[in-house]
Amino acid sequence: MTSVTNFQAPCPARDDVQLRDHTTFRMGGKVPVLLEPRNRDELVAAVQRLRVDGIPYRMLGGGANILIDDAGLDEAIVLTTGFAFMVRENDEGTELRLGAGLSIPQFVTKTREMGLTGAECLVGVPGTMGGATVMNAGGRHGWLSSIAKRVRYLTPALDEQEDAVGERTFGYRSSMFDACVVLETVVALQRDAPKAVQERIKTILKEKSAAQPLIEPSAGCIFKNPDGHSAGKLIESAGLKGARVGDAEVSTKHGNFIVNRGAATFRDVLQLIRQVRKGVFEHAGVDLHTEVKIWSREPLELSASSRP
Ligand SMILES: Cc1cc2nc3c(=O)[nH]c(=O)nc-3n(C[C@H](O)[C@H](O)[C@H](O)COP(=O)(O)OP(=O)(O)OC[C@H]3O[C@@H](n4cnc5c(N)ncnc54)[C@H](O)[C@@H]3O)c2cc1C
Repeated sequence: MTSVTNFQAPCPARDDVQLRDHTTFRMGGKVPVLLEPRNRDELVAAVQRLRVDGIPYRMLGGGANILIDDAGLDEAIVLTTGFAFMVRENDEGTELRLGAGLSIPQFVTKTREMGLTGAECLVGVPGTMGGATVMNAGGRHGWLSSIAKRVRYLTPALDEQEDAVGERTFGYRSSMFDACVVLETVVALQRDAPKAVQERIKTILKEKSAAQPLIEPSAGCIFKNPDGHSAGKLIESAGLKGARVGDAEVSTKHGNFIVNRGAATFRDVLQLIRQVRKGVFEHAGVDLHTEVKIWSREPLELSASSRP
């Protein structure tokens, strides 16, 4: 087994990288190596080499749905943002193949310019198309699953495969790709006038920026919506908007967002997550579960009664 410090990457790579600079929460310590593949071959080779050398790794897109320990991690990180492309898949130009690292906002803008509708489900969502595929990103205006047609990916055994999307491919904030590496997503959109698409985007953005803290550092929604409930409304009803631990604060705009007021630490956020779970459970008898991915060396206990 090769140690992570002696690892020879088959693509550009950097040692001792702070993940804080790669997350929207502005949080996360050092990792020994960050690999930055620039195309599909490099991405596949990077993951295969890590596997052969027995080095644990994690996939990172835009870091918009992750809370990372400031104490750092021992794993290698494969950053997909250099593998970003968009090409036509059919003659009409309504089907597009997207590299995993393509930024979601870029996808929304480009397809609007091309006179295509469908990407509106991802307006105001930061991150990459790979992350959006794994998380089935979206919300009340639709989900990635409503436009995804095929996905090319590496299976957990690292076999490269491309499958049509089926009934079981996506779930609520989840997909069958959780333990896979998403390489490319093919989406099917419809023709529409760019002006009409722009109007819809403007309306959605206006609505979102009134209801969500889109400018402050955060990782989006912290909790999944429990069946029949809105996590944000439950948190608000429990009087927890504005609750604070250190520089971590439950947004006063939207109860399901925790924002970093400047110097919030990983432990501050964890403590606040526990407080919110406890408060909501005591107030409404509902147990909230995290949507945000939490990366740490330590096994974490997030139940409402546990202490940091
Ligand atoms: C202000 C704000 C608003 C948001 N609004 C929304 C919203 O409206 N709807 C919504 O759904 N989400 C929302 N989010 C959350 C986030 O934007 C989405 O979940 C997005 O899809 C994350 O993409 P990413 O590339 O940043 O993924 P990351 O955060 O980098 O990764 C998320 C998970 O996917 C895995 N992953 C990433 N890329 C790959 C890949 N290529 N192959 C395999 N695994 C991979 C990672 O290992 C991790 O487990 C919001 C976040 C913020 C900060």
